Amino acid sequence: MNTEAFGSIFSQLEYGGDSAKIVSEAHDELSGVFRGFEETALYNQNKVLNAFREQKIAVRHFAPTTGYGYGDDGRDALDRVFAAALHAKDALVRSQIVSGTHAIVLCFQGLLQPGDVLVGATGKPYDTIEEAIGLSGGADGSLKAFGVSYRQAELDGRGKLNIGEVLKLTKDAKVVFFQRSRGYAWRPALELDDLAACISAVKKENPGCIAVVDNCYGEFVETREPTDVGADLIAGSLIKNPGGGLAPTGGYVAGEPEYVERVAQRLTCPGIGREVGSYAQSYRPFYQGLFLAPHTVCQALKTAALFARVFEKMGIKTLPRSTDRRSDIIQSVEFDKEEMLVRFCQTIQSVSPVDSHVLPFPWDMPGYSHQVIMAAGAFVEGASIELSADGPIKQPYIAYLQGGLTYEHGLLAALHTVESLL
Ligand SMILES: *Cc1c(COP(=O)(O)O)cnc(C)c1O
Repeated sequence: MNTEAFGSIFSQLEYGGDSAKIVSEAHDELSGVFRGFEETALYNQNKVLNAFREQKIAVRHFAPTTGYGYGDDGRDALDRVFAAALHAKDALVRSQIVSGTHAIVLCFQGLLQPGDVLVGATGKPYDTIEEAIGLSGGADGSLKAFGVSYRQAELDGRGKLNIGEVLKLTKDAKVVFFQRSRGYAWRPALELDDLAACISAVKKENPGCIAVVDNCYGEFVETREPTDVGADLIAGSLIKNPGGGLAPTGGYVAGEPEYVERVAQRLTCPGIGREVGSYAQSYRPFYQGLFLAPHTVCQALKTAALFARVFEKMGIKTLPRSTDRRSDIIQSVEFDKEEMLVRFCQTIQSVSPVDSHVLPFPWDMPGYSHQVIMAAGAFVEGASIELSADGPIKQPYIAYLQGGLTYEHGLLAALHTVESLL
């Protein structure tokens, strides 16, 4: 679409002038970047389609189940189709895994015993994971209270893995843990080549060490997943990338069958493991969401790059830059003033399909040391594969933008954002 076409559409929408120009130019300048995202989506769509074909997914798999859920075909086939789509040997996909945090912590609880050592290879873990490990919050039942010790290698000055440091700490470790996405930190997403190099170095010294990856926001961003480069277990949330915007809740764990099995025993009970667990509504949104996920992720990536370009044109600092390689769907933006961060989040909320009339303000969110502002006008509560933005109220004022079910929504949101920030 050219600038004139944009101009005329936007003028019908009562926009025009500077905002339409900035957004339409940004859009045009990114055609090469978008082509890259679309090629990845095509590759991943083929991967997902083949997973459905191989598993002979049929309408009967969508049927609801009740009670124990013994022999629940829809549940078991969903495990297999996810495994194939993520290039993993096995997967556990459950509505009973309540969030990404739960999926990741289940991996630790399934794999670690008292006396074992867990090493964080990517610096400070995501806030909610910190509490489960026992680094903050003092939760009863944390890994620390259970007798698991934790050590952490910091990222280097550029936010990259410090492999030498990781090697020193993992000599006697049971699990080495990587966080692919940036969380609430001004750092790039973990590159899969760096992950591959680090895992192979760790395993050379300590072959029994199990590599676990927090894959939140990373699924289908690239043609490979961490499971393609040596990760033993990956975990994530279904209300982010792999749910494609349709999954109503849930989480997954995927990787080596032996480890997935241990997680299943921990999720329910030793002995019954993955044989139980029903879902009284249709499994269809989980299947259909996975099928849509490569495309939805592409829409989110285009939205992220567009916002980056628009902000760059306005002289606002972005990470990644609009033309950088991406390994997660997050766009970080650094504002000078608190007021800008707040106004940005309020604008995103105001152009959401749900709760557009609600004005978000910074609040004291449990588990966070600063006030946080969040914009999330989503169909699925808290789903951040839908367009959403948030940021802690502290200097420097960084907003994290992610999601966007359609790029068209992203474009309109960018336009409103420019209007309100100019
Ligand atoms: C979203 C996210 C999680 C898990 O968050 P939940 O809200 O529990 O689903 C973990 N790690 C990272 C990096 C994330 O972005």
